[in-house]
Amino acid sequence: MIKNPFTKNSLVTKYQKLINQINCLETNLKILNDDELRVKTLNLQKQHETTSNSNSLIAESFALTREASSRSLGLRHFDVQLLGGLVLNSGKIAEMKTGEGKTLVATLPAVLNALKKKGVHIVTVNDYLANRDQVSMGQIYRFLGLNTGLIQEGMSNLERKENYNADITYVTNYELVFDFLRDNMVSNIENVVLKPFNYCVIDEVDSILIDEAQTPLIIADPIETSNIKYVTAAEITNYLEANIHFKIDEKNKNITLTQDGSKQIETILTIQDLYDPQDPWIPYIINAIKAKALYFNNIHYIIQNNRIIIVDEFTGRIMPDRRWGEGLHQAIEAKEKLPIRKSTETVASITYQNFFLSYPKLSGMTGTGKTAEIEFEKIYNLSVEEIPTARPNIRKDFPDLIYKDQFSKWNAIAQECNNISRNGQPILIGTTTVEKSEMLAQLLNEYKLSYQILNAKPENVRKESEIVAQAGKKNSITIATNMAGRGTDIILGGNTRFKTQKELYTLLTLVKNYKKKRKNNQIFYLFSQFKGISQKFCSVLFSLIQATEFLALSDIEILKILRENDRISTPTISYQCSVKFLVRELLLFNKKHQKQDNKIVKNLGGLYIIGTERNDSQRVDNQLRGRCGRQGDPGTSRFFLSLDDTLLRLFGGPNVQNFMQNQLFDDSPLESNLITKSLNTAQKRVEERAYEQRKNLFEYDEVLNKQRRTTYFERRKILESESVRNKILEYGEQALTEIIKQLKRNSRLIDSTLLLSRVENLVGKNVRILKDLPAVEKPKELKKKLFSEFWLNYYSKELELESYESDLIEILERRYLLVHSDLIWKEHLQRMTLLREAVGWRGYGQRNPLYEYKEEAYFLFRELQITLRQLIIYDLSRSSIL
Ligand code: ADP
Ligand code: MG
Repeated sequence: MIKNPFTKNSLVTKYQKLINQINCLETNLKILNDDELRVKTLNLQKQHETTSNSNSLIAESFALTREASSRSLGLRHFDVQLLGGLVLNSGKIAEMKTGEGKTLVATLPAVLNALKKKGVHIVTVNDYLANRDQVSMGQIYRFLGLNTGLIQEGMSNLERKENYNADITYVTNYELVFDFLRDNMVSNIENVVLKPFNYCVIDEVDSILIDEAQTPLIIADPIETSNIKYVTAAEITNYLEANIHFKIDEKNKNITLTQDGSKQIETILTIQDLYDPQDPWIPYIINAIKAKALYFNNIHYIIQNNRIIIVDEFTGRIMPDRRWGEGLHQAIEAKEKLPIRKSTETVASITYQNFFLSYPKLSGMTGTGKTAEIEFEKIYNLSVEEIPTARPNIRKDFPDLIYKDQFSKWNAIAQECNNISRNGQPILIGTTTVEKSEMLAQLLNEYKLSYQILNAKPENVRKESEIVAQAGKKNSITIATNMAGRGTDIILGGNTRFKTQKELYTLLTLVKNYKKKRKNNQIFYLFSQFKGISQKFCSVLFSLIQATEFLALSDIEILKILRENDRISTPTISYQCSVKFLVRELLLFNKKHQKQDNKIVKNLGGLYIIGTERNDSQRVDNQLRGRCGRQGDPGTSRFFLSLDDTLLRLFGGPNVQNFMQNQLFDDSPLESNLITKSLNTAQKRVEERAYEQRKNLFEYDEVLNKQRRTTYFERRKILESESVRNKILEYGEQALTEIIKQLKRNSRLIDSTLLLSRVENLVGKNVRILKDLPAVEKPKELKKKLFSEFWLNYYSKELELESYESDLIEILERRYLLVHSDLIWKEHLQRMTLLREAVGWRGYGQRNPLYEYKEEAYFLFRELQITLRQLIIYDLSRSSIL
């Protein structure tokens, strides 16, 4: 029974029966040996095919997973974890606080949904976490006879395929989506790496489905663009005046041309139509005006080494790797008379929204989901369930302290660090940018405090996790940007596993070097530091340093062995076993000390979290707070703010401005309801805005998504089918029908000369039968004749080609189909982007831009299909071996 205060929770009531059932099964499973448990899993798989009673299946599978976990990892799922697992299995989001053991929770629905043998994906935010979770949780799955896969950056296609073939695969969102896009670009079915989707659990689901879902994922090729258009457009802006030639919409960062404006530009350029699809000027012009009227140097961007570098509007952070899309970046380069860098052309793209919606069953977990509940429901159809914590949360969240300016705020933070750290309580300070982290570090230097500083760059993920894991050690001060070390557990008193790895690394490398230099005294000194460690540890270490093979290893190689040590691989060299043994022994030794350290830090009040600025969303603030107070630990959080923080400045509204003007205050902080309220409103405003943007992105991508699905579906059929002959014949017939339709549309009677030339244009000059076709022929008859003529034609083409090589025609058919559909799809993507912009401009009439977009997108797609059929038939009819 899940105890108070949760018994009143309706979620618990709903699942209590099932949880009881799982608990009941436990006693029966306890008496089975390991092999018998495995047989149970096999039986469950069979049962899965026949049974309709899914509840008994769920209970059995959950109970088995729990037992396997107890035996393999020594971790027994708590009842609240079972509850989390049940929520995940019902295709929802489980909100479970940091440290509640979500990694372990995911194993429950993973095993259950893997019974179908159709694969389960567990998605994490970075390679390090995917690896960590697969290695540890893999032991449970292996115990049950299920295999696991892991996808990491840089893996070959073959490795990916093997790993996706596993029962349960750990992968990052990024790798997964790009694998999907690449799978839809391959020319051989063998190279497809993903199986059809079945079930997916997304860890840190808010980070992936919300924070990262602001822009689509794109595979792009660089292309040559006409720089001259950018330059000319920039020049033209000198002859245009705001409110006469164009109107500015500052809030939406948009420009509309007036009629006078359009005329003026057409006269200067001596062109007929700005919007001419063959030679479109309008995107260049609009971007040039935007660049001039809405984007300013040193505010929206800075110029560095002849490049335009974007400055994030909310955080003030520079973003060197990003470029504004759709030609805006080039337009600003032209305005500033800088070299214009190549644009890229999208060859495939998808949004996270549509990607994850393609799973038949989707679920997610996070510590902070409730505040984004509406978005999860509306866009992903995922409801959020709050899972009670295993132990009550006793973290203290102190009210915000507000300072008059940045100077007093940061000084107060440094002072607070100094005061708090005096008695050794560990501190974690969250900042919004790397620059601010560094500035604070300078201040801490003045107090002679030592600290660790982390910046969330992807290449540092592993190192940062190690540091964050130690952020709960006595006396430690850690400065970290929001994302740094996310997903890593901060254990009070320090993390033994990381500590052990680090100690052993230092020990082994030092011992090795001393041995080489014959400094035996030093070696004895090192050993003496591990007072109380087992005799066996020392003897293994001694024999290790006698082995010349070991002494020849470089430090990096030692590090690698230590890290690989947590991967369970068959050891190839003898010292791997020895090192493994050393790790185990030292871990045991350290664990004894950890208990004491843990107690000490708990007595100091646990981890102290300092927020230095409210983030754009309350969810991110909560994430920072949630880093302390895990599993019923003590902990404190406090935000230090200033009246000129970006969020307040931009979105605080007039109340805050008045407040600032009317108050004369010194360096001491104030607690003001008005300011706290304004901050909450400001956050809401920013969140709403971001949500609107994502919703907008999603609604537009949905239109494209239907087309993408059709295109990818057709493409896959081509790859999979033995022969595509029927498809070709079908295309030919459709292409001919379209010709007839078009001619009929233009005049009541079909002009036979015109018909002949069109058909010849399509299939070549061998069309005999047409010569004596009467102009009045009924379309039906006409079609019949044309079709049979086409078949004959095609048949003779086949014979001709087959006389050279037996399956040549097959190869050609498939190749033409793929090449053309890829090319046409790529062109379609560019057209859709243009269309997206165009409807934006048109939006100023009474028309609804999304509706217009849908409508035109439909026509464009139909056109795409017609062109595709014509192109393929055209090429195949003309293919010859000579
Ligand atoms: P979360 O992702 O929810 O923040 P983690 O999955 O990182 O939490 O787990 C936090 C810690 O809790 C880990 O050290 C893990 O080993 C431990 N843990 C999880 N479940 C249990 C359990 N049932 N019993 C004991 N320890 C557990
Ligand atoms: Mg986690």
